[in-house]
Amino acid sequence: MNINDRNFIHKCTSCQICASVCPKEAISINLNLDGFYRPYIDKDKCVNCGICKKVCYKFTDVPQYTADDAKHYAAHALDSQVVERTTSGGIADILCQKLIEEGYTCVGVEYDYDKNIAVGAVATHREDTLKFRGSKYIQSYSYPVFKELLEMDKNGKYAIFGTPCQIFGLDKYLKCRKRREQFVLIDIYCHGCPSMNVWSKYVKKIQQQSGFKKFDYLNFRSKVRGWGNFNVFALVDGKPVYVGPKVNDNFYTLFFSDAVLNDSCYDCQLKSTLEFCDIRLGDFWGKSYDMNNKGISVVSLASSKGVELFEKIRDNVWCKQHLSSDFLPYQSWGRNYAVNHELRNTLLAQLADANISLNRVINSYWHAMPLSKRIKQLAKNAVLLMPTSVISMIKKLYH
Ligand SMILES: Cc1cc2nc3c(=O)[nH]c(=O)nc-3n(C[C@H](O)[C@H](O)[C@H](O)COP(=O)(O)OP(=O)(O)OC[C@H]3O[C@@H](n4cnc5c(N)ncnc54)[C@H](O)[C@@H]3O)c2cc1C
Repeated sequence: MNINDRNFIHKCTSCQICASVCPKEAISINLNLDGFYRPYIDKDKCVNCGICKKVCYKFTDVPQYTADDAKHYAAHALDSQVVERTTSGGIADILCQKLIEEGYTCVGVEYDYDKNIAVGAVATHREDTLKFRGSKYIQSYSYPVFKELLEMDKNGKYAIFGTPCQIFGLDKYLKCRKRREQFVLIDIYCHGCPSMNVWSKYVKKIQQQSGFKKFDYLNFRSKVRGWGNFNVFALVDGKPVYVGPKVNDNFYTLFFSDAVLNDSCYDCQLKSTLEFCDIRLGDFWGKSYDMNNKGISVVSLASSKGVELFEKIRDNVWCKQHLSSDFLPYQSWGRNYAVNHELRNTLLAQLADANISLNRVINSYWHAMPLSKRIKQLAKNAVLLMPTSVISMIKKLYH
């Protein structure tokens, strides 16, 4: 009995928890041709203990959850430098700092500048946590670090920042092992993760455009044009060498198209439940903070542990309590994305082909879109080309 059983009800999320918890190291994680992390089982090593299946979303039906059971806040760090250097309001950064002060070992996601992938990493000092700042909008390669953490001192205190699918698997495992109390689990309001091949092609393109093979710093969503914009930004020797375009950024066109997300993201139930985390973080989208250009996080406190931890950072943040109806309708919560299988297969095949440029993939995507969608995009682009203050005003009027 292992995750290769055929009686699954969901697709693989690429969370990699199966490999982290396998006692025989029978599971390895590799990217498949479509650019998604997948587990591969060594039959000779597998003893059919079934632990991988117990922690796997593929075999679990998740009960519906109402977000009204949690407490929700809009929040941002009081330190303006933290807000500037983080994705939303910098709450993940402030939480991580507090957890380190309280003696927790933390796991977050950093960027590997040699391999151009997002990877899970351990932090035990404040300096280590700085590399976690900023969302990397791709699935992280995290199974080695989860494994390392789960094997550390059984009496230690640990905190893990991850996607809802990673946090789900970890919560299941820790409950099985009766170790959940030692862990703080923090996840994100999640749109989904695109094929790694999108990011690989994008990186290649910006390497060519900038003339640099390796970057010293890369921000998937910098605030150079204000919060709410999605602009990749790269530095070499402290100098900007790439700033994504104001409109039609290739990576974000495909990210938001939902055309090349991981199979399980299309009808993911985990993005619509707070059952497995202590805290969920996101951008506070919606009309309440339309005019804010610096960044506001939504902080959903799902457990008493989450409430307690948030209480401890209250002196370092501005916050205001909200109803879930103030932000949840603007998230992907409760939504399934429509999937055009034919288009998805075409795009994934093109993305996997080293001879096909990202521009050609984008052309194929737009070619398949109805005229109405293309016109809508042109209108959106016209707005995005306006000054930030005007965009905020238009957003406010729209809402
Ligand atoms: C793939 C992805 C999809 C997302 N979709 C949405 C969405 O639809 N709606 C929304 O409101 N917010 C979404 N977010 C979350 C949002 O971008 C911010 O991460 C969140 O608001 C926290 O911001 P912050 O300023 O508090 O965090 P920061 O202080 O900037 O820290 C970022 C935190 O995210 C963690 N992180 C970075 N990359 C990853 C990754 N690839 N996987 C797991 N954890 C990571 C870091 O370890 C760190 O703890 C998404 C994030 C990711 C990675």
